[in-house]
Amino acid sequence: MRIEDDIKIDFKDVLIRPKRSEAASRSNVVIEKEYTFLNSQNTWKGVPIIAANMDTTGTIAMSNALAQHGCSTCLHKHYPIETLVDFFNREKNPQADRSFFTIGLKSDDFEKLQMVASKVGEVQNICIDVANGYTQYFVDHCKKVREKFPKSNIMVGNVCTPEMVQELLISGSADIVKIGIGPGSVCTTRIVAGVGFPQLSAVIECADAAHGLRGHVCADGGCTQPGDVSKAFGGGADFVMLGGMFSGHDECEGDWEYEVSHDGDSWKTVQQVAEEELRSQYKYVNRKTLLFYGMSSKPANEKYSGGLSGYKAPEGRVVRVPYRGSVLQEGGVVQRILGGIKSACAYVGANSLKDLPKCTTFVRCQRTHNDVFERFDIG
Ligand code: 5GP
Repeated sequence: MRIEDDIKIDFKDVLIRPKRSEAASRSNVVIEKEYTFLNSQNTWKGVPIIAANMDTTGTIAMSNALAQHGCSTCLHKHYPIETLVDFFNREKNPQADRSFFTIGLKSDDFEKLQMVASKVGEVQNICIDVANGYTQYFVDHCKKVREKFPKSNIMVGNVCTPEMVQELLISGSADIVKIGIGPGSVCTTRIVAGVGFPQLSAVIECADAAHGLRGHVCADGGCTQPGDVSKAFGGGADFVMLGGMFSGHDECEGDWEYEVSHDGDSWKTVQQVAEEELRSQYKYVNRKTLLFYGMSSKPANEKYSGGLSGYKAPEGRVVRVPYRGSVLQEGGVVQRILGGIKSACAYVGANSLKDLPKCTTFVRCQRTHNDVFERFDIG
């Protein structure tokens, strides 16, 4: 047994130190980035924020909405083949190149990808997503997918330490490695297994390792507010993936809870009824909450894997998140994230998101913000 004594940090442990600068105002900050990937050799340009491939957030509606701001979506892997064929058809859908096709380790997933590709041509972006990216089997699987899809941009994960990032870039032939073991909003791996790594340090150490090889990293999980996204980019993340922050919005799919009324005076709360049915019965139908759960939680296992097998413990939480309107609404989550990044860049004198890491100094702190009125917040 060994103990590492040096301090590791999470988003809540630091702030970005402001710096005197002659940089332009925040409205001129460029948040688009351009990358050339290590193995596909493709050039990619866009705003490097990605909606997580959870079945609630990795939706076609999310992809259409986020693409309007140059952001991407990792589609969840449970859409039927016909839907995926239509979606990934570049001629029919210009958003196809902004989205990732997700697979796991199952041979069914890989077959589905190959069937879609046989209809629409090589898929531009692939995400190979597993809970534990540390196995040799996973590295071999990544390599196998690369052999079939030499020109695709392939993102793989999750891991949280530099040596495995290098292994996945070199032996796994990945372009982007996804970083994060246990930081997610509905993840319980750290509680169940006791395994993980403070997320901001993981991003800093893994980005450094990847960049030395001309590879890229995606910080996945743990951002709970826009400032965390800026901290991830400041720490060297090339992409940031978000689940919880995009949950509860119109663009999500899943089990909504509604408030319904015939007259607008007396209201009733209902669940597990289709929205169209409610609209045909009631004059007023409002979304109230959305069931949001980890993809390794009990309900997700029951829905997609025939339940938890004997030896497996759930590693995901089940929550109800409040309804929050559209991700695109004024003052909504997209505006707050993109505005927050521009503001962070302006505070440290970075003209573009590309310059943010070299302008970033983190200061460790006990308290990042004043929360005295947080629970009275009305807007
Ligand atoms: P968030 O942005 O909500 O903090 O984190 C999203 C990430 O959490 C996802 O992209 C995925 O990597 C991770 N995640 C989603 N569901 C689960 C789960 O059930 N267990 C674990 N360990 N991680 C999960």
